[in-house]
Amino acid sequence: MFLGHFGIGFGAKKYAPAISLGFLFVAAQFLDLLWPTLLLLDVEHVSIVPGITKVTPLDFVDYPITHSLAMVLVWGILLGLITWGFMKNFKYSAIILVCVVSHWFLDLLVHRPDLPILPGASTRLGFGIWNYPILTALAEAFFFFGGVYLYAKTTAAKNKFGRFGLIGLVIFFVLIQVANMFGPPPPSVTAIAWAGQLQWLFVVIAFFVDKNRVVGTA
Ligand SMILES: [Zn+2]
Repeated sequence: MFLGHFGIGFGAKKYAPAISLGFLFVAAQFLDLLWPTLLLLDVEHVSIVPGITKVTPLDFVDYPITHSLAMVLVWGILLGLITWGFMKNFKYSAIILVCVVSHWFLDLLVHRPDLPILPGASTRLGFGIWNYPILTALAEAFFFFGGVYLYAKTTAAKNKFGRFGLIGLVIFFVLIQVANMFGPPPPSVTAIAWAGQLQWLFVVIAFFVDKNRVVGTA
């Protein structure tokens, strides 16, 4: 899943209005923000197998540190504790934890059975919606636009950067999703990893957009 994770980040703003959209994106997409670095370090592995699912050609060979449920809970607790350190607010820490953990459950919908429960264990889960392109598109759109709707209702633009920045960010996301779904398979694992690192750009833009919007009605 791609857009859906960012949708969770957008939607979480309603429940954690004091947290910047940039941090909410980091939480909801944390596993996939960490993953490219572990690919580049040769710690986790993916291979390109065109046709392995109808939507994505990626075979997630092993990714126990970023995508085993046990480690996802660890990352969620860690980010929750960091939030606690800054905000001393239990609700906000819990929301960050839920955002991190939500990633695994959204991935569970779309991935083949390749998501481990424990690092190193052989039980791997995934409902495989990636074999149904229309269902994939509907699931991505549901979580993404649902989240954007909540964010747009919770915040208002302070200026044109807040207004057009949000519109531009949404369009940028949709274009990347379409390119992912309809474009050719990536040429190499290194290319996947560097494309993955570019997701940090969304985080940076989200901080910028959020700074130019205000909670409530302007
Ligand atoms: Zn993921």
